[in-house]
Amino acid sequence: MTKQTSERIHQLDNQLANQIAAGEVVERPASVVKELLENSVDAEATRIDIDIERGGARLIRIVDNGRGIHKDDLPLALSRHATSKIRSFDDLCAVASMGFRGEALASIASVSRLLLRSRQEGQDIGWQAVTEGRDMAVKVSPAAAVVGTCIEVADLFFNTPARRKFLRTEKTEFTHIEDVVKRVALANPDVALVLKHNGKVVRRFPAATNNPEVKLKAVCGSAFCKAAIAFSGELEQLKIYGWLASPNYHRSESDTQFIFINQRPVKDRLLSHAIRQSYSGLIPTGRFASYVIYIDCPPSEVDVNVHPTKHEVRFRNPRFVHDFLVKLLQQCLASEATLFDSSVAA
Ligand code: ADP
Ligand code: MG
Repeated sequence: MTKQTSERIHQLDNQLANQIAAGEVVERPASVVKELLENSVDAEATRIDIDIERGGARLIRIVDNGRGIHKDDLPLALSRHATSKIRSFDDLCAVASMGFRGEALASIASVSRLLLRSRQEGQDIGWQAVTEGRDMAVKVSPAAAVVGTCIEVADLFFNTPARRKFLRTEKTEFTHIEDVVKRVALANPDVALVLKHNGKVVRRFPAATNNPEVKLKAVCGSAFCKAAIAFSGELEQLKIYGWLASPNYHRSESDTQFIFINQRPVKDRLLSHAIRQSYSGLIPTGRFASYVIYIDCPPSEVDVNVHPTKHEVRFRNPRFVHDFLVKLLQQCLASEATLFDSSVAA
């Protein structure tokens, strides 16, 4: 193949730019579910219904009872770099919402058939916008709706066959979705979530405003809860708390390992290292610890804009967080603490 070196530079069209961005944000159905649930949480929904068909490849439908989107903003919601969550660089440095990049819906819309229906308090009726992959001329029409937002993402990757080919079995894709829903459930005690697959309710996570253990049990199961030791500690503006399963409760899978920073589910190397170090020598090789750990700190102490998926974060002072976490966990594991009633002094 010859390289086209004589080509002049041209601006990519919007759709192609969106599809390129989608390559980073929308890896599989579970990434769509993650982005949509984060939007519902940002809209202060207290109830979210998630309907999945065929592992999400056929349909992902999310219905929430949140604030909704103004009719005139529906086309904007689907365009790139359009967000209601930040306005300035200063906002970005102190961002408290899950979203802020303004690109999830545009990316998802560019690789699926998408319907967005919404109604705000005070509007008599709802409005909806429908898009289909590259054809992004957004038409808004009236629709029957209750207050809140419904998004349907059908035929994900229908126009990007290479991506579609990488989808795993229905079961595997659904397992990834379930994992995302569990993380959102644990991060947001006030929100009730119901997850359906192919028409059947698979998971129900009740709202547990004053009783986080209810959520813990629904997500992690009663065996984890029996083995769990509650811990908490504070150092300067850093607060870390949660539950650790006692080392005797080691598992063949790492599916009960949850870390949240300012309510944001993360998978962070530094923190995983701290946890492994704390459990080292206590768990047989090849087995996994189980834990739910919440880290709260001022938003200015942590940069969440490291990667489009926001799974990674960067602390301003990583050593400080790492060492405090190790100290807390080691104290907790060394203590004879029992379920839900112990706390470790910093
Ligand atoms: P971001 O979340 O980064 O702002 P998105 O592309 O995910 O970008 O969403 C674009 C905008 O659409 C959001 O800023 C928000 O105003 C609106 N939006 C999306 N989903 C919802 C929802 N479920 N409820 C209310 N508003 C929503
Ligand atoms: Mg978003």
